[in-house]
Amino acid sequence: MRVNLLDFDRDGLIGHCTGLGEKPFRATQLFRWIHQRGAVDFSHMTDLAQTLRSKLSASAHVHALPVISQHDSADGTIKWLFDVGDGNAVESVFIPEDDRGTLCVSSQAGCAVGCRFCSTGHQGFSRNLSTGEILAQLWHAEHFLRHRQGSDERVISNVVMMGMGEPLQNYHALVPALRAMLDDHGYGISRRRLTVSTSGVVPMIDRLAQDCPVALAVSLHAPTDPLRDTLVPINRKYPLAELMQACLRYLDAAPRDFITFEYCMLDGVNDQPEHAQGLIDLMRHGAGRGVSAKFNLIPFNPFPASGLRRSQAHQVQAFAQCLQDQGFVTTVRKTRGDDIDAACGQLAGDVKDRTDVSKRMTRAPILITPSTPSHHDH
Ligand code: SAH
Ligand code: SF4
Repeated sequence: MRVNLLDFDRDGLIGHCTGLGEKPFRATQLFRWIHQRGAVDFSHMTDLAQTLRSKLSASAHVHALPVISQHDSADGTIKWLFDVGDGNAVESVFIPEDDRGTLCVSSQAGCAVGCRFCSTGHQGFSRNLSTGEILAQLWHAEHFLRHRQGSDERVISNVVMMGMGEPLQNYHALVPALRAMLDDHGYGISRRRLTVSTSGVVPMIDRLAQDCPVALAVSLHAPTDPLRDTLVPINRKYPLAELMQACLRYLDAAPRDFITFEYCMLDGVNDQPEHAQGLIDLMRHGAGRGVSAKFNLIPFNPFPASGLRRSQAHQVQAFAQCLQDQGFVTTVRKTRGDDIDAACGQLAGDVKDRTDVSKRMTRAPILITPSTPSHHDH
């Protein structure tokens, strides 16, 4: 079997190339061809020696993911559905804004965490994506967008691991993918513009701080353990006190940063004033000392099996104001790409597309401090 070169970060590619008897800088050239130029055909890589090109053709390929569908929204949002085999499909969403382009990337087909308000969670877990399948989403989106704009100028400035799956339950594939995204010879995404979102896999938060300290978003959704246990089942394994301690340790490793806490607003469940107050207490005292935090409130996107409702707009506003009054930068996510979600519901039923990533995603925050950047813009 030929290896997929998308499975490697640059160190991995250096390992592969030195195994073929090549110098490390050849691997860097190859890495640039693949990730910066979007090349798949070794015969186009004219600055590599013919002997290397034939060795590569025999042992390797650049295997992108087949695109099942692409939906373009009137607001510029694009959603791709990629085939990952065996009836599984994953989504990526591109969200253009004035000052940045954000790609939302999936890490697993399905998810084992099983959050009550999440359609991916309801779908169950199929399998982890490989490094190559994670990177292929960015590879495809970036080169499609460059081709469309007719120039080699970079389009995607921010990546958020907020598609399907729990990235920290696919750690071994995740880290090389993140490294390739950060690499100046790859996508050159800056550390603060690359966000891993997690439901709270405490030991892996610690490992990420050591191995690849990118921006961290924690999906909180509740200020107390009894409530969080019912919404985010992994809380039973890693309760709030442990999660907040892990957040502090993460910040100790990157002292000038903050953690973004995501909070899905569920009508009558977690959107009352006492919940806002609970969050404030948790941030100030939950870990013994204060955690440097921003909040991102996400109006719930309902789906039939959830039995939950979206909080009313005035409730979201009041909740945000409460956090804001206590000095916490708070943004409210606006849904993008509504018109393509309708199309998404009409997709072929034989693929397990029951996610709705674009509905979770944001445009610019519509609240609340005049100078507030969204959580993607660190
Ligand atoms: N598994 C990771 C990353 C993927 S989910 C995590 O949970 O953080 C990305 C974000 O979308 C999470 O904050 C999640 O809580 C939110 N989300 C999931 N389902 C949603 C829904 N139906 N409406 C709004 N946000 C949702
Ligand atoms: Fe998994 Fe995140 Fe959905 Fe929870 S919210 S089920 S962790 S994808």
